[in-house]
Amino acid sequence: MLTNARQSLLYVGGRAFFKLGIFGAYCFNADPVILARKISIALRAVLHEDFTVHIDQLSAAELAIKLETLQQQYNALQDLNLALDLTRGKPCTEQVALSDALDGMLKGNYLAANGTDVRNYGGLEGLPEARALFAHVLQIPSEETLIGGNSSLTLMYNTIDFALTEGLSGSASAWGNSDPVKFLCPAPGYDRHFAICEHLGIEMITVPMLDTGPDMDVIETLVKEDHAIKGLWCVPRFSNPTGCVYSEDTVERIARLGLAASDQFIVMWDNAYAIHTLYDDAPRLASIRDFCQQHGTMDNVFQFGSTSKITFAGAGVSFMASSDKNMAALKRHLAFQTIGPDKVNQLRHVRFLANPENLANHMAAHAAIIRPRFECVLATLARELADQGMGVWSTPRGGYFISFNTLPGLARKVVKLADSIGVKLTPAGATFPYGKDPQDSNIRLSPTFPSLEDVKAAIEAFVICVKLASIQDRLQRAK
Ligand code: PMP
Repeated sequence: MLTNARQSLLYVGGRAFFKLGIFGAYCFNADPVILARKISIALRAVLHEDFTVHIDQLSAAELAIKLETLQQQYNALQDLNLALDLTRGKPCTEQVALSDALDGMLKGNYLAANGTDVRNYGGLEGLPEARALFAHVLQIPSEETLIGGNSSLTLMYNTIDFALTEGLSGSASAWGNSDPVKFLCPAPGYDRHFAICEHLGIEMITVPMLDTGPDMDVIETLVKEDHAIKGLWCVPRFSNPTGCVYSEDTVERIARLGLAASDQFIVMWDNAYAIHTLYDDAPRLASIRDFCQQHGTMDNVFQFGSTSKITFAGAGVSFMASSDKNMAALKRHLAFQTIGPDKVNQLRHVRFLANPENLANHMAAHAAIIRPRFECVLATLARELADQGMGVWSTPRGGYFISFNTLPGLARKVVKLADSIGVKLTPAGATFPYGKDPQDSNIRLSPTFPSLEDVKAAIEAFVICVKLASIQDRLQRAK
């Protein structure tokens, strides 16, 4: 034991002297204070405690030493043949298993509270008890709520397609009557929102995301000036991917946009993570409906949500809400597509989730599963990268993502480095319209699906890629 300890000490000491020898060559002629600092950095580099100094404070020689260590660590990871994946914002198996009781829940009792046989056709807006339960999720009256199929994205696509081709207030109001049609897209944001716009030929304008939500100064100016702008995407609570919760002021300003924007302007309020808190003290979201009522803009906002990350991601229920006028128009449109939604699934969801208290307990069980994965990512990022100028990241209190910004111009490189050692990350650029991040800096991390062990391995590999890319880049620039 003692021999081993002495051997390790000698080994570390030997390596230190060796590295100091090389380093001394760089430092020759340096002033004693600087020399002492450089020696201390080199020593820490050798002892693997080196990454606490800000990248801007490192000389080319110090960067070169760090690069060598990082390259060794990276090569060692390459040898491990990792197969890790941080790309998917999906619930993990333990999470979906929380809702396994849905299977067989109805036990042959197919009658809804009002006597409707849910096995049969009809009921376009959904079962009353399902409307009541999910209206609670969106904090709106149940009469304004419509229950859809398993995907809220379908409802969102349908709403935009309807406004574009048929018009929210009759054919004269169809956005498609004039060209171009534009949408405001706060970014980093959700790639599937941007994909809907791109698919439907809607021009996207990127708007910066702040800690308080989208930059409202920019949005207010744009909607006043450009009446081709017909919509705004929002993920107001635990935004995808930044995790931010829109401030009350932002919510009110969004509710007022209808007063300044073009006719038929709508806000797509995708509250996909409305109740997906990781901590009890997670920030609350102000009610956009209350502000809309106050400002007379109920026709300008459509709200959406689903149980995709509450029960089964592939077999849940979706819901939406807007003004009576909008919902009546949309239902007329929907009636051409279906005689009615899957009420069997709605009823089993109502029987399973039962009431708001039970739903809250169910969400707490989700949080207990995924919180350690988030904490693992955040603790590793803090330990390995805090105050070193190689990246910044969000610290969400809920939702499914952590947003990481590399130094400008390095996101694609980091994703590629990670890919080469078997760690899959969401493609750089995916969080921006047209897949183009002007800074090439944002990377979305999704820690929910892999096991905790895999999250740990993946994020440790990720930080090595970030450091390697940052230091290589700095050295190249110094040349
Ligand atoms: N909106 C946001 C913001 C999301 O992150 C996701 C899932 N990644 C969805 C919608 C998808 O919702 P659904 O499963 O109801 O279609």
